[in-house]
This record gives sequence, structure tokens and C-alpha cells, in this order.
Amino acid sequence: MASSLRFRGAASGLRYWSRRQRPAAASLAAGKDLAPSSPVPPPAARFSRLTSEEIFSREALRLGRCLKPNILAGVKAWRLLPLPLAPLVLPSLPLLGIQMDDVQRPFRDLGRVCSRSMASKTPVGFIGLGNMGNPMAKNLMKHGYPLIIYDVFPDACKEFQDAGEQVVSSPADVAEKADRIITMLPTSINAIEAYSGANGILKKVKKGSLLIDSSTIDPAISKELAKEAEKMGAVFMDAPVSGGVGAARSGNLTFMVGGVEDEFAAAQELLGCMGSNVVYCGAVGTGQAAKICNNMLLAISMIGTAETMNLGIRLGLDPKLLAKILNMSSGRCWSSDSYNPVPGVMDGVPSANNYQGGFGTTLMAKDLGLAQDSATSTKSPILLGSQAHQIYRMMCAKGYSKKDFSSVFQFLREEETF
Ligand code: NAD
Repeated sequence: MASSLRFRGAASGLRYWSRRQRPAAASLAAGKDLAPSSPVPPPAARFSRLTSEEIFSREALRLGRCLKPNILAGVKAWRLLPLPLAPLVLPSLPLLGIQMDDVQRPFRDLGRVCSRSMASKTPVGFIGLGNMGNPMAKNLMKHGYPLIIYDVFPDACKEFQDAGEQVVSSPADVAEKADRIITMLPTSINAIEAYSGANGILKKVKKGSLLIDSSTIDPAISKELAKEAEKMGAVFMDAPVSGGVGAARSGNLTFMVGGVEDEFAAAQELLGCMGSNVVYCGAVGTGQAAKICNNMLLAISMIGTAETMNLGIRLGLDPKLLAKILNMSSGRCWSSDSYNPVPGVMDGVPSANNYQGGFGTTLMAKDLGLAQDSATSTKSPILLGSQAHQIYRMMCAKGYSKKDFSSVFQFLREEETF
């Protein structure tokens, strides 16, 4: 079991190598400079000078660092074997503990992966075109990627259909047409449905496909989906985002990426079109862990900002002046200086638009529930996180579920009896 896992890691290395060419190709296509003074030629130029035999040898060396020695010996034997001796030698490989499939798999993977990664602007699947998915998908379009689109809510696809993108009728159909897929769904249940449901991605996923889930979901579910994807010969990575709808529009999201490190460069090529920070966090599920921690802090600081602003206003301070003082003092935080919850303090934020759009209170309550579950499973005290969870759950019950989470200010104002 352990050896087969190691071997799969090695096979992933093949994909990593070949994808390293793509950022350069993408930059060229986007008209970006490739550091002309750099002493190291850009990857595309380096690889264009290699013959297929050299490419193969390099990959064998890369594999050599990861493979069990006996499997490596098998790979070498396979290549060096004079054809007439094959019938004599091959039957003895199992006696040396080498499975035929182990020897053949790197060869198969190399062919499969090269065909996916060479064609950088092949269609990308996108599932979930809501508040975040819509602008994210548009940024992929701006970078020249044709899209294969699906959303359970057909109206969400209309804009893309009108723009000439291909809309299909299930996640499985997306997987049939694209070997790189991004999902941006509300909750763990939606992600399970989109990946493992009756018409889910995994029903028709192609071997070697790269599946990137940017939804915020339970890290344990991400790990399960990764295992299921691996069984189908595909790679799953979690890449939840921070930054909200504004950052999604401007392509300035932060992606927190979990998964096999060798796959990170491939994920980065797509995520870099939608975000300004793409951070590798570790094994699959760690992107979600980072996201959950960030959102717990965000919820706590938003409630703190709302309480502070409300108190200051009731003490007779002008809200704009108070915000200005906070933002030049030690109380400053993202909720006070970039997303202030008080109407009239800032333009272009949900509080300036009756808390419409932005990050829904339901989604914040969901993320705090994930933090709560994670705290229970790791025996971590999250006193303020738990309190924040209760406040956002209460808001959902009192009609705030569709409003942006900064509406906690309005909620506090209305709770005169506190
Ligand atoms: P949303 O509800 O606006 O959009 C989700 C979309 O997914 C909807 O169009 C819905 O129809 C579709 N959908 C649901 N189930 C589906 C399924 N099984 N198959 C296909 N489509 C399906 O949510 P959002 O605000 O875009 O958030 C998406 C994710 O991003 C959430 O996990 C959220 O926590 C996270 N997030 C949101 C923000 C934000 O500011 N909105 C910020 C950071 C992270």
C-alpha cells in the first residue's frame, strides 16, 4: 500500500515537469515579458531544445528519486531489455517483487499528461457560477481560456452562453469535455453532489484530470474527494479563496492551496488568472484549514468592529471620524478599513448597498460551523469563534441570511434589548 502511494507520487512528478512549461507559454500568450535579461532561458525555450529521448531520460531520473529501488530497476530493465530477451525476463519480474503495472504506469502517465499539459488553452470546466464563480470564470475567459460551464441554476449560465461559452447539463458532462475543472460551490454537501453524485464529475472524469475545488468546505470532505479522484486516476486539490466578490472581479483573490506539491504549478497557472496570491499550504485539506482559520478571525473582527462602531455612534461620535481614527490606530483591521459595516462610511462595500451582494451571512455561519467542528476534533479552545458562530446563526434565524455578513452591525442596532 505504502509503496503504491509512493509510486503514485512519482507519477505525479511527471505531470509537474511537463506543466512547468505552461506558465511561460501563458505569459507569452498574454503578451507579458519573460525577463529578457534572465541568464536562465524560459522553460518553454529550455524544453524546446530537448529531444523526446532526453525528456524521457530526465523523467526517469526524476522518478528515480521517488521510486522504490526495485521498481526503478524494473523501469531501467524495461528500457534496456533487448527485445528478443523480453519473453524470458518479463515473467521473472513478479519474483523480484516488481508488478508489471508498476513498470508500465510511468510510460502511460507520461504520454497522457504531456497531451493535457502541452495544450495550455484547452477548455477549462467551471462549475458554480454564483457571486464568486461568475467573476472568477470571467477572469479565466479574459486570459483566453474557453470554458465548459455548469450550474444547477440555469440562469447563472446564461451570461456565459451569450458570450459563446459552452454550457452543459451536468458536472459529468463537464468532466467529459475538460481535463481541468474548477468548482466554486456553497457547501460540503454541494461539493459532494458535484463530484460524487449520480451525474457527478467522477462519473466521467478523464485520467490525469486536474480538479480544483475553490469552495470553502470541510477539510475532511476535501480529503475524501481527493481519495475518490485518485481512484479514478485524477488529481484533486483544495484551493479556497479569501478576498470577496470585489477581489474576485479584479482578479486579486488569495488562493490557499492544498494537495500534492508537484501539482501546484499546474494549479497555479489557472489560479493565477483569478488571484494575485496563490499560496501552497501543504497536503490536501490544508488549504481549507487555512481558510477556516482566516474566516473565524474575520467573523470575530467584523463583530468587534460592528460593536465598536455602534458604541462610538451611541457615544456621539461621527461614524466616519471614528472609522478614520480606528484606521490610524491599533484597532485597525480589514473590517474597519476595507469593509466597514456602517452605512455611509465607505463606498463600494455591501454596507453602502443595504448589505446586498458580498459574502452572505449563511456562508459565514457555515464557515464558523466548520471551525467549530475542526476545534472539536483537534480539542482546540475557540471561545470567541464559538460566540461568533452563535451570533451568525441567530442572524440567519432572524432574516439576515441573504444579507452580507457585515450586516451584523444592523443586527446589533436592532437588538436594543441587549
Ligand atoms: P453562491 O451561493 O453565490 O454561488 C454558488 C453557486 O453554486 C450558485 O450559482 C449555485 O446555483 C451553484 N451550485 C450549488 N450547488 C451546485 C451543484 N451541485 N452543481 C452545480 N452548481 C451548484 O456562493 P458564493 O458566494 O459564490 O460562494 C461560493 C463559495 O466560495 C462558498 O463556499 C463560500 O463560502 C466561498 N467564498 C465566498 C466569498 C464571498 O464573498 N461570496 C468569499 C470567499 C469564499
